[in-house]
Amino acid sequence: MQDLYQDRQRVLQTAFVICAILLVFKCFQIQIWDKSYQQQHSYREAVTLYPSRGALKDRNGELMVYNLAMYDLKVTYNQVRKSNIDTLAFCKLLGITDSTFYKNLNKDFNDRRFSQRKPFNFLTQIPGDKFASIEERLYEFPGFKSQRKSVRGYPAHVGAHMLGYISEVSPAKIKKSNGLYQRGEYIGTSGLELSYEEQLRGIRGVEHVLKDKWGKRKGKYKEGAMDVSAVSGYDLITSIDLELQAYGEQLMQNKIGAIVAIEPSTGEILAMVSTPSYDPAILAVNRNRKDAFRALQRDSLIPLFNRALMAQYPPGSIFKTTLSAIGLQERILTPGRGMACGGGFVYGSLRIGCHGHGSINDVGNAIQYSCNKYYCQTFRELVNVYGFYYPEKGMDRLADHLHSWGLGARLGVDIPNEASGHVPTAAYYNKKHGKGMWKFSTAVSVGIGQGELLITPLQMANMAAIIANRGYYYIPHFAKEFEGDTTGTLDKFKKRHYTKVHPMHFEPVVNGMERVVTAGTGARSKIPDITMCGKTGTVENNKGKDHSTFIAFAPKDNPKIAIAVYVENGGYGSTYAAPISSLMIEKYMKRSIESPQRKSLEKRMLQADLIKREKPSYSATP
Ligand SMILES: [Zn+2]
Repeated sequence: MQDLYQDRQRVLQTAFVICAILLVFKCFQIQIWDKSYQQQHSYREAVTLYPSRGALKDRNGELMVYNLAMYDLKVTYNQVRKSNIDTLAFCKLLGITDSTFYKNLNKDFNDRRFSQRKPFNFLTQIPGDKFASIEERLYEFPGFKSQRKSVRGYPAHVGAHMLGYISEVSPAKIKKSNGLYQRGEYIGTSGLELSYEEQLRGIRGVEHVLKDKWGKRKGKYKEGAMDVSAVSGYDLITSIDLELQAYGEQLMQNKIGAIVAIEPSTGEILAMVSTPSYDPAILAVNRNRKDAFRALQRDSLIPLFNRALMAQYPPGSIFKTTLSAIGLQERILTPGRGMACGGGFVYGSLRIGCHGHGSINDVGNAIQYSCNKYYCQTFRELVNVYGFYYPEKGMDRLADHLHSWGLGARLGVDIPNEASGHVPTAAYYNKKHGKGMWKFSTAVSVGIGQGELLITPLQMANMAAIIANRGYYYIPHFAKEFEGDTTGTLDKFKKRHYTKVHPMHFEPVVNGMERVVTAGTGARSKIPDITMCGKTGTVENNKGKDHSTFIAFAPKDNPKIAIAVYVENGGYGSTYAAPISSLMIEKYMKRSIESPQRKSLEKRMLQADLIKREKPSYSATP
């Protein structure tokens, strides 16, 4: 009996142990090995991987625009409601008030943009350095998660107009993009950021993450088999010389106008300045951007307007260089043609005065002394080339020449909003005065760069590049190279565009421009050891003081830089535009201004204030 009882007990004990072992084994199998069980009690989340946007560098590899890490904090309403988070500690961590907390959390859930079950933005654009301490403790606050994004940083704080900016992509663009853009992403909206959006943006990726029911990351879904990595955008090497750009912006401070410098042998833009300007960093994506933008829009000096390629100015006497070359090509002029000035051009009751100058024995003298009589007469003969009664044909022949110099139409620079300028044609005068109702004298002020002829500073610099090249140009551009791109995006900038003037006709023009600087109107802007060829312009302005302008290139042979400077209300060309051009050229070629005489000229230009106003509220605060 006793034995039977003991046997039974042993059997029961054994069965119990076996059951226990089976149970432990099953639990182990379920929890550790069996993925299907695991997956039933966890969920997959697709996390967008944002590509890093391509950086912008100068021609020497110096960074102009780079990426700054920025974080958006997202919240899932239901998860916060269910958990009991320490609101006070959370607000303290983020540096927000509790009213902000509730405002950002309690959205109008009738609005289709928000759902209690799906994450929405709680706080955006938290700078990377500030976010590090938040990230560390984020696990204490269920329902909140972070999203890394990159925005733009500007180490040099210059070049605002050409660089442009990025903005959050609009719903309309998202709709049109066929899935290329998603809400909350950034897109280039102006300048190079807009022109090269396709190359800079990169390609978005996705990572599928497995999370437990508490939202804790458990690992990759299917070992990452479905993941796609993000592809970074191409870095853009621009044509800009950052040091020269910064120097140009300094020289133009407190002045209204523009500088454009081009490498004639390539068409690469070395510097493009438009003033008044602003620090590009104030339009970087951050919470103060709207205010900065409004202040810029309200400013009466319109700093958002890129004068270098949007302002259309009468060129003044710098145009006499171009007209000389065309006159030589048309055999109106010969290199040795002289002319008695007699104080100006007179035709009937029309009189265009000249200033006292030395005798004009050749084209070089005419450029050197900027003789108005000489160019009114040249213009007259050009327009009357088919006879006095046929100014239409002559006018259009001249306009054809000017179009071949890239005037009267957009050059095609690789940033938006370029203006075309204006080259008057026969049709233009027919419309204005009636067919047969005008003659050469109606338009004669065009011969000295006044009147209906309008040119952008970019086109002026291109004119200087054409003369430097003795007859051709490349489309001025900023994009030198995309690092690693071989798709030929930039091939269009490698094509030469010829003018209708033969190279041989440029030599008298170049010699005249050399004399402008050695013994003419630009003599005070001579650069030690560098032969600069230039031409001054003083542009009559019926709204105020004359504009000061200058085009130049250097050295005379194998020129490395061509430049145009336009200073509104600066007076004589020799007062501001010529000295500023010469300093830019010296800086580019020697990397510094050395002689005491040149140093004092530099100081004078830096200190000149032609605006005289309070510092604007958006002024640079790096
Ligand atoms: Zn004269």
